[in-house]
Formats: sequence, structure tokens, C-alpha cells
Amino acid sequence: MSEYIQNLNPTQRDAAVNYQGASLIIAGAGSGKTRVLTCRIAYMLSQGVQAHTVLALTFTNKAAKEMRERIATLVPGGMSRSLWMGTFHSVFARILRAESDKLGYPSSFTIYDSADAKNLVKLAIKELNLSDETYKPNVVAARISKAKNNLVTPQAYEANSSLQAEDREQRIPQFLDIYKLYARKCRENGAMDFDDLLLNTNILMRDFPEVLTKYQNQFRYILVDEYQDTNFAQYVIIRRLGELHGNVCVVGDDAQSIYSFRGAKIENILRFQQDFPGAKLFKLEQNYRSTQTIVNAANCVIEKNQRQIRKKSFSAADEGDPIRVIKAYTDKEESALLASDIYTTVRTRGVQYSDVAVLYRTNAQSRALEEALRSRNIPYKIYGGMSFYQRKEIKDMLAYVRLVVNPRDDEALRRIINTPARGIGDVTIGRIAGAAAANGLSMWEAVSRLDPATIGLAGAAGNKVAQFAKMIGELSEMRSTTEAYTLGLEIATRSGLIGTYKMQQTPESISALENIEELLNSIRVYTEEQERMAADTATEGESAPQALVQIDEWLQNVALLTDMDNENPEERNKVTLMTVHSAKGLEFEYVYVAGLEENLFPSMMSMGTPEGLEEERRLFYVALTRAKRAAVLSFAESRFKWGEMTFGRPSRFLSEIDPQYLDLQFELGDSRDSDEEANSAPRYGRPGGPSRYGRPGTGSSQDYGQGGYRKRAGAPDTGALRRTDTPSPGARFRSLSARG
Ligand code: ATP
Ligand code: MG
Repeated sequence: MSEYIQNLNPTQRDAAVNYQGASLIIAGAGSGKTRVLTCRIAYMLSQGVQAHTVLALTFTNKAAKEMRERIATLVPGGMSRSLWMGTFHSVFARILRAESDKLGYPSSFTIYDSADAKNLVKLAIKELNLSDETYKPNVVAARISKAKNNLVTPQAYEANSSLQAEDREQRIPQFLDIYKLYARKCRENGAMDFDDLLLNTNILMRDFPEVLTKYQNQFRYILVDEYQDTNFAQYVIIRRLGELHGNVCVVGDDAQSIYSFRGAKIENILRFQQDFPGAKLFKLEQNYRSTQTIVNAANCVIEKNQRQIRKKSFSAADEGDPIRVIKAYTDKEESALLASDIYTTVRTRGVQYSDVAVLYRTNAQSRALEEALRSRNIPYKIYGGMSFYQRKEIKDMLAYVRLVVNPRDDEALRRIINTPARGIGDVTIGRIAGAAAANGLSMWEAVSRLDPATIGLAGAAGNKVAQFAKMIGELSEMRSTTEAYTLGLEIATRSGLIGTYKMQQTPESISALENIEELLNSIRVYTEEQERMAADTATEGESAPQALVQIDEWLQNVALLTDMDNENPEERNKVTLMTVHSAKGLEFEYVYVAGLEENLFPSMMSMGTPEGLEEERRLFYVALTRAKRAAVLSFAESRFKWGEMTFGRPSRFLSEIDPQYLDLQFELGDSRDSDEEANSAPRYGRPGGPSRYGRPGTGSSQDYGQGGYRKRAGAPDTGALRRTDTPSPGARFRSLSARG
């Protein structure tokens, strides 16, 4: 038996080698779920299972990449290359491209990221002459997303009177009109948003039985990591694809389900054994990641949740240090204390900066932390923050490529028709849009085909537009004959982007140029990878080698990168800053969790309902269980929000940890320690209100309001900001020194 199988414990081993039939692996954090999945795939390949019949779905592209690399080290060369491994979105985008004609989409359809989608929602709201005060683009976009993830198309929505009643109740009666217009625009632009990738896959499998059969036959083995966070649309896809052969293996932990605001359902796990009768259940109980203290502390917290599958989790590692709690008077001081603690840890504990992570509930918290780290010269990187792909010059360049690949993409055209500036103003763009709508054409088609006079474009404006349209047309034609990198360079040059930035000679323009260069490099890297893979699979006799890697292919790949995949390979030996949400599945030697205050973590918007609060608690469980060797928790007694000093109490989660696992040099005071408040007085929003659909970590008001904090406006200095009220007599904490 291979070494990697032998290194597993008996239950893990059973779960890895019994790969026929359905399996449910359910276990707490750090128990080796992902490791078992990896070993199982490697084992299957070693038993002669063909790689291209294996479909493995992960939560991020990064996780897929790591798994693939690991498997490659376990099985003979090249064997793992044709595994279908990736996120739901990337795998099903690939299938949709192959089958796009059936749904009436071009195979080169554009994928809109959440920023694109929001812009389109705004446009739809505007076109319908609705107010974006009443129809908040964020809320509308989230509601569209929710509908799609529940497989509710605009038509289905129209037929559903209770959904429409809900809209009226939420005072957005015309939501359906926006949804319809949005969907129409996507289709006209030849574009799908992220949720469409799942919705349309479902439509494809529902309406084209032969397509369903084809993929059911191809994917003989289906594996899913982080199953607790699948939403309904993803769940239905797995059930459909797996029902023929039943070789479906899912791993998950109900205690780590943290995406219910995006429609994820814990019930999917609970239902698995009904969906796949006879499914084997594996429970892993040993945590291999963390010290006993961390595992026990995390168990204390998660026990407080009512809704959960009870399971054991223990660590056989060292007991480890107690979890330190750091108190600060202000958020600024909190950051400074963390930075100095990190500095000391790295100096005295023989660890690297890259072994350290600082986790927080909302992105907005990173700013203070960044400042503190910078002032101590501690290198850091922000994971999942403003991604490379969100930078202006990159979005511009990508919009050019998108338009070249799919000239129907009006959103792309709007973005770059006058970038760099070529004297095409809003009035002209409005006329083009009008003419396009009147003639049932895309904007590019309108300017390429219609007589400028009929569009109302006189002389100079007409010429500029015609030149632009011609350039796009020519670049578009080059696609089939020009290799991706060369075409990319051509686009960057002919668009004028490179020239403009070169001319500017400012620090920003120089870094913009570097970024464009980096993007072009990524095309080259991608091309080389594809060529290597094509050569490999050719020797396995699966498909013919590709002659030319087109820019279309690269673009499809890029469009699927999510914020969480954003990681620069040079970023070694740096402290990682990230939201708790994006830390899922990862591990670090030292983990700091900042901002443990009521109304921040748990977040204010979640506290109105018991469900919301339980989700926050799971989120805290995820945070704590990322730590291998030590965890440090911190909170600030006051924090700037919306330019005002607000006061907070320590998070109830601190009081939920048995004090024997804490190193607490002070009394915690009146931290809330029960869910009763949430149960009896839903002060913030209703169950199912907007808070549950907001994105975490955006730092928006949804995460980060000020109600609930006790404000003391006009407080003169930090000294005066100290809380004067004495800790309640019932405070459950005694500092370690007091105890011993
Ligand atoms: P999470 O719920 O956080 O995703 P997980 O259950 O997927 O966690 P893994 O990430 O697979 O857990 O494993 C946690 C750590 O324990 C990893 O570093 C892994 O390599 C290690 N590990 C797992 N099983 C074993 C084992 N049998 N022997 C030694 N180390 C192990
Ligand atoms: Mg895992």
C-alpha cells in the first residue's frame, strides 16, 4: 500500500480507499477532510480510474490548484493532468462553453464578475427610471443572485406570487422588472454572471437530457470539498450528475457553514444520505492541525449552537499555550499591539512572517492593521482584498480583450470606447446605445454596420467612432490566426493603453504599465501551460494537441478568478491579512483574530436573529481553528466608525471559551454571554432581511453600522475614552494571575 495511504489513520484510510458508491465524510476542522479527498483521488488513479472521469469540486481555484499539485506528487507523472478539478464556476463554465449553442449563447460568452453585475443592475435601475435610493443596487443585485441560486428564473419569479408579495413588503415592488431587464441585458451582451453559470448549467441539464446523460457517463466519480457551503443550485447539479452511478463523495463540516447569506444550506449535508441511499458515513474525530487548547476552546464555543450535528473532536498534539486575549482602548492601539506582538513572536518563536495570519470580520478593519504593520516594517499581504484584476488599468485592458473576443459585450464597450480618451463623449455613447436598441443590434454592431448619419453622428465624432469600431473588428479577426500573447500585446498597443501610460510618466502610470506587462506575462504563462498539457494528454491518447492557444481561452480562465484566488507568487514570507470568510480551509502556525467586539464580531446585522448569531459563531469557530500552534484574540473598547468614536463591549464569543483555555490579564467586563437578546428582541432587521444577503467583508454599512455602540461624541482624547463603568460583578473571567 502506498505510503500516503499508510500515513492516514484507520478511518481516514477507509474513507480514502472505499471509493465506490456514495460517501459522506463529516468531521470538525483540521481533521484531514481535504487530505482524505486528495488521497482518495490519488488512490483512485493508482487503481486505474481514468483522470478525465473524475470531477472534483473545491471552494476556490487556489484550493483546486493545491490539490492538483499534491496529487501530482503522489501519482506517476502527468496522470493527474486531465482531472476535472476546480470550483463549481470554473468547471461548469467550461461545460457551458462546450454546450453554449443549445442555450443560444456564443461559446465565447463573457463572464461578469460581481462589480460588472452591479454596474449592469445600476444601468437597469436607471433605464427603468427607478430611484437607486429605493432600489439600492447592492440589495437588488443580492436579491437577483439569491433568486438565481434558488433556480428562480425571471419567468419563474413572475409566476410566484409570494416572492412578489415579499418585494412589496420590502418596498421594492418593481424588483421583477429590474430582474427581467438585467437578464435580458446579460443575454444581449452575450454574458453570464457568476450565478448564471450555475443556473444555466441546471437549465442545460434539465432541458437537454442527452447532455445530462453525456456528462453523467463521463463523470464516473464526483468529489466535493466544503460541501456544507453548497447552495441549492450547486446541490441540484451534484444530485443530477451523480444519480446514475452514485459515486459521489462529499466532505464537510456543518460547524463551518458560513455562507448562508449567499444561499448555502447546511441541510444539503443532512439530506445527503437520503439523496444517495446506502451512502457510507465516515466521521473523523482527531484534529491534526491544532494544539489541544485550541481544539478544546473551539469546541466550547461551537457547543453553544443549537442547530448542529454533535460530533467529537480531539487533538493528540501538545496542550499548547493558553489563548491570549489582548485588550486595547482604541482600534488604532489594537493594531499597534498586534503588530508589536507579531514582531516579538517572529523574533522569539523561530517562525516566519508567512506563518502568521491576522483575521478580521470586515475588510474595513485592514486599514488600521496595515498602518501598524507598515510602521513596524513588517511585510504583509492582503489576501482577497483589492485584487490585481480589480485595478483600473487591468479592468480596461480586460474590457478590450472581452470586446475583441465578444463584440456583443456592450458593458465592455461602454467602459473603453473613450479610454484612453479619444473624444467620444457621453452624448455620442447615448446615441450609439439608442441606435443599437432601435435596430436590435449590439453597440459595436451598430457602429460597424449602420450609417453614421442615421445614428446622428456628425463628422468628427462619426470618424472617431468608426476608427474605434474598425480597430476592434480587425483585432477580433486576428483571433483565429494569432497566438494569444501576440494578440494581447497588439491589443495593449493599438488600444493606446501602453502609449498613454508611457507618456504620462507618473508613478501611477509606471505601475499601471507594470501591471499591464504582468497581465501579458500571465497570457504567456497560461499559453505555455496549455501547450504542455496538450502535449501530455496527446501521449495518453485522449485528445489531439492544440495548434494555437487563442486569447479567448485565456480570457475565460481569467474571468473565473475570484477575489479569494488573488495571490501573488512573489509574496513569500509576509504576514497574511484576510477576512475570516476567505480563511476557510487554510491553516497558519499563529493566528490573530482582531476586533472581537459585540456588533462587529458577531456583526450587528446578524444579531437580530438566532440563525444569524449561530452563523457568526460558526464563523468564529472557523477563525479559531485556522491556528496550528497558537491563537491570539483582541478587541478594542472604542473604534472609529463613520468618523465618530463609538464604544463597544468585548464579544460574547470571548466569554464562551472556558477560562481555563485563556490567558487573560484583566477582567472582561459585561460581555454579553447569551443569545437571549437575539431570541427575544430582533432589533436589527427581520429574519431573512437584507443583512443575510449582504456580502461579508465589504466594509459596507451592512457589516459595519454604528447602532448598538454606545457613543460618546466629542470625547476629547483617548484617555477620556476609557470606559469608566466597572465590570459587572458577574463577570465570568478572572485573569490568570488572579487565579493562580
Ligand atoms: P478544514 O475543516 O479546516 O478544511 P480539514 O478537515 O480539511 O480542515 P486538512 O486541512 O485536510 O483538514 O488537515 C489539517 C491538517 O492536518 C493538515 O496540515 C494535514 O496535512 C494534517 N493531517 C491530516 N490528517 C493527518 C494524518 N493522518 N497524519 C498527519 N497529519 C494529518
Ligand atoms: Mg479542508
